[in-house]
Amino acid sequence: MTARILVVDDVKANVDLLKTRLEQEYYEVLTASDGQNALEMLKNEAIDIVLLDIMMPGISGFDVCSKLKNNPATSHIPVVMVTALDQMKDRVRGLECGADDFLTKPVNEMQLLARVKSLVRLKMLTDELRLRAVTTRDIAIEELLAKGVDVTESRPEVLLIDERTAVYERFSAVLRDHAKLHHVANPQDGLFAAAEGNYDCVILSADLKDFDPLRVCSQIRSLNRTRFLPIILSSDTENDAFIARALELGVNDYVIRPVDQNEFVARLRTQVRRKHYHDGLRSNVAESIELAVTDGLTGLHNRRYLDTHLQTLVERARGRGRELSLLITDIDKFKAINDTHGHDAGDDVLREFAQRLRQNVRGMDLACRYGGEEFVIVMPDTSAQLALEVAERVRESVEEMAFVSGEKQLKVTTSVGVATLNRNSSDDMKDLLKQADQALYEAKNSGRNRVVATAA
Ligand code: GH3
Ligand code: MG
Ligand code: MG
Repeated sequence: MTARILVVDDVKANVDLLKTRLEQEYYEVLTASDGQNALEMLKNEAIDIVLLDIMMPGISGFDVCSKLKNNPATSHIPVVMVTALDQMKDRVRGLECGADDFLTKPVNEMQLLARVKSLVRLKMLTDELRLRAVTTRDIAIEELLAKGVDVTESRPEVLLIDERTAVYERFSAVLRDHAKLHHVANPQDGLFAAAEGNYDCVILSADLKDFDPLRVCSQIRSLNRTRFLPIILSSDTENDAFIARALELGVNDYVIRPVDQNEFVARLRTQVRRKHYHDGLRSNVAESIELAVTDGLTGLHNRRYLDTHLQTLVERARGRGRELSLLITDIDKFKAINDTHGHDAGDDVLREFAQRLRQNVRGMDLACRYGGEEFVIVMPDTSAQLALEVAERVRESVEEMAFVSGEKQLKVTTSVGVATLNRNSSDDMKDLLKQADQALYEAKNSGRNRVVATAA
C-alpha cells in the first residue's frame, strides 16, 4: 500500500534522512522546510500522512498540527510528530494538539516504518468512508468532519486485558478521573468481553503467560463487533520487532510500563476520538445510503443515486471497452389507475411493478425509480440485443399477470425505451438517458405496451 507522505523539518539533513528511508519503501515523499510551507502544501496536495518536526522557525509543529486538525478539510490526515525532545510535556502537548503519534530523533527505523504502515492503513479506511459519504452526497460532510476534532466529554469505557491485579490497580489509578476501567484477567474471556461489551478502547497486555497477545489482537480485529475497536498494547519491555509486528496486526498504539499518566490519558483520548470519528462516519454513511439513495415506496434506488452513479458506470464501460445498455420504462395510462381505483391502489401497483423489475434484472444491474411511474435500469456488460430481450421480458412480466390491490385485480401495461452506449461516440450519461427517453416516447406514440430501441 503506497502513500504520499509530507516530511516537515527545518533541518535539511533530517528531511533527507527520512525521505531516503521512506522512498526505499516506495512511499512518495513531499517535503517542506517550515510550518507555513507545510500548511500551503496541505492545502494544495493530497497527502496521506504528515511527519512533523516540532521546533521550527516561524510556526511551530504544535501550531501546524492544531491548524491542520481544526480544519475539517484536513482533520482526518494523521500526524506523527518527530522531535528531538523526548520530553513528556511535549508529547502531551502534541497529543492535545491532535497529533496521532510520536517518533523521537534519532528515528528508529523499524518504528518509523511500522508507524507509517499502520497509519496508512487507517488513512485508507478513513478515505474509503469519506469517499462513500461524499458519493451519497447528502451528508453535510464538513459538519461531520468538524465533529471529528471534538474531544468527547463523556468518560470512555476501557477494557483492560491483563492477568496481573497489580497492573489493573496501576491503570485504575492512572485513569481514575478519565475513564471507566473494566478488568478481565483471562485473555480468552477478554476477547468475549470485548465482543459483548460496548468499549471505546482495549488495553492489551503484551506480557501474557500462556497466551500470545498478538493472537488476541488478531482475534479482536477479525470479529465484526470489534474490528474497529482501538487497541493499546501495554508492554513491560521495549521490543522493537514485537511492537512492529503488533502494529502490523492492527494494534493502534503501544505504551511501555510504567506509563506516564498525562501521556497515557492523552494517547487514550486520541484513540477514543478517532474511534468516535470513524463510528460517526460509518453510521452516517450507512444511514445516508439507506435514506438518501433509496426510494421509500419501492425500495429501489432513487434518481439521486442514478445521477451519482450512472456517469461512473458509463466511464468505467468506456475505460474497459465494455458494453452498457439502459432502459426506461413508464407505466401506461397510470393516471387512469389512480383516478379509477385511488392513489393507494396506484401505490400498490408501483410496489408490485418494482418487484417485477427486480425479478427480471441481474444483481449487477442498477434498478431505480426515476420519477413517479418511470423506472430506469442500467445494465453493464449488456449489448443492444440483450437489452432488447430484457426489456421485452420486463414488458411481458407486467402484462401477463394482473396486479393485485386489496380485492382488486388491475390490468397494467408498460412501455419501454432502450439505449446502448455507442463506443464510437462521446455520449455521456445524459445523452444515453435522452436516447432512451426518445425511444420511450416513440413506444408511447406507436400504441404503448411495447419496446422501442434507439438505432445504434
Ligand atoms: P402514459 O401512458 O402516457 O405514460 O400516461 P400516464 O397516465 O401513465 O402518464 P402521466 O404522466 O400523465 O401520469 C402519471 C401519473 O402518475 C400522474 C401522477 O399522479 C401519478 N403518480 C406519480 N407518482 C405517484 C406515486 O407515487 N403514487 C401514485 N399512486 N401515483 C403517482
Ligand atoms: Mg405513464
Ligand atoms: Mg410518466
